[in-house]
Amino acid sequence: MPDSLLDKALAPGLQARQQQHLYRRRRTLASAQGSQVQVDGRQLTGFCSNDYLGLANHPRIVEAMRSAAEHYGVGSGASHLVCGHTSEHHALEEELAEFTGRDRALLFSTGYMANVGTINALVGKGDAVFEDKLNHASLLDGGLLSGARFQRFLHNRVADLEKKLQRSEAERKLIVVDGVFSMDGDLAPMPELAELAERHGAWLMMDDAHGFGCLGDTGAGTAEHFGLDQNKLPVLMGTLGKGAGTYGAFVAGSEVLIETLIQQARPYIYTTAMPAAVAAATRASLKVIQEEGWRRQQLKGLIRHFRQGAGELGLTLMDSDTAIQPIVFGDARTTLEVAEGLEQKGYWVGAIRPPTVPQGSARLRVTLSAAHTQEQVDGLLQALDDVVTALPKTPL
Ligand SMILES: *Cc1c(COP(=O)(O)O)cnc(C)c1O
Repeated sequence: MPDSLLDKALAPGLQARQQQHLYRRRRTLASAQGSQVQVDGRQLTGFCSNDYLGLANHPRIVEAMRSAAEHYGVGSGASHLVCGHTSEHHALEEELAEFTGRDRALLFSTGYMANVGTINALVGKGDAVFEDKLNHASLLDGGLLSGARFQRFLHNRVADLEKKLQRSEAERKLIVVDGVFSMDGDLAPMPELAELAERHGAWLMMDDAHGFGCLGDTGAGTAEHFGLDQNKLPVLMGTLGKGAGTYGAFVAGSEVLIETLIQQARPYIYTTAMPAAVAAATRASLKVIQEEGWRRQQLKGLIRHFRQGAGELGLTLMDSDTAIQPIVFGDARTTLEVAEGLEQKGYWVGAIRPPTVPQGSARLRVTLSAAHTQEQVDGLLQALDDVVTALPKTPL
C-alpha cells in the first residue's frame, strides 16, 4: 500500500528519534514477573521491574484474584458511580485508609488517572500549582491540564519553592511532589515541605508510587517513613502496580477530600471500575506487605550490597537509598550500548533516555527487588564491570 498522508507526515518524526537513539521498543515477556523472566525467547535476570517486593506473582495474591474472579467474574461492568463498585473495592478502600492512617481512601484505575484527576479536582483557573522539576509525567500533565498557574521548582530545593510561594497571589496553592523520585530514587524533603506548606497556606500532595509497600516500618510508605499524618500531608496518592504487585492506585485523606474527588475527579467518574478480582488481589497483597516484613529487610540488604559493590568497582551511583539505583552515563547511545552489553550477558536493565529524564542524563535504571538473591546482584555487578570496562574510554 502506498504511504498515506498520515504516514508521510509522521515518518520523519520516527526517523529522527531513531537517529538520536531515542526510539523505544517493547519487549515481549512469556513469563510472570520475577527475578528471572522469559523475554523474546531468552531467559534473563531482570533488574528493571517495579515489583520491588516480589509480589506480582505471589501465590496467595494469585489465589485471591482467582477466587474473586470465580465470584465476581472478570469485568466490573461500569464506573464506580454507576454499578461497578463492589464490596471488594469498598473493603480495599477501607483497608487502605486504615493502613495509611487516613480517614478515607479512594481507588482509581491507574496512578496516571489518580494524579490527573486529583490535581484537576483541587485547582483550576486563578489557582497555582507548584511541582518539582523531576515529578512524574502524570503529575506534570495533571498540573498543565488544570489551567492553574503551573510553576516548577528546582529538584528538592525548598528555598526555590519558597521564593515562588512568596510571589504567588493565587487563592489556592497546591504543592505536588513524588515521595520517591521515579528515575533518581531519592526522597523528597517531606517534613520541610510540610512545614513550608503550612507557613504559606498551601496544600501538599505526595505521589508515593515508589514508596508504598517499601518504606516505613509497616510498609505504609514515605508518609510513614517521615511520620506525616493527614494534617501535615493532606493529599496522599499511592499506586498498586509497583510495590504492591497488582494494579491500580488510590488517594487517601479526609472525608471532604475524598467526597470532592468522587464528585469532581473526571478520570474517576468517567472510567470503568477496575475488576473486583484485582481489588481482591490487592487486599491479599496488603496483608502480605504487613505480615512479611522480611521482604523490606531483604530489599534493604540488597540495596546496601549493590551500593557497596558498585562503589568498589568505581561506578558512580546517585544519592539513593531506595530500590531505584540509577547509573548515569549521560548520552543515550552509551547507555543503550551498556544495556545491550548487559543483555548479552543475561541481565535486563532499563535504559532510560530523554524525555523521561533531562537531556544529557541518560541512565541505566537498576531496580532491586526482594525477589533477587545476593548472588544475582553480584552477577549484575560483575557484568556491569565487564561491560563498562570494555567501553571506548567514556569518562563516567
Ligand atoms: C508509575 C507511576 C505513576 C503511574 O501509575 P500507574 O498506576 O502505572 O498509572 C504515577 N506516579 C509515579 C511517580 C509513578 O512512578
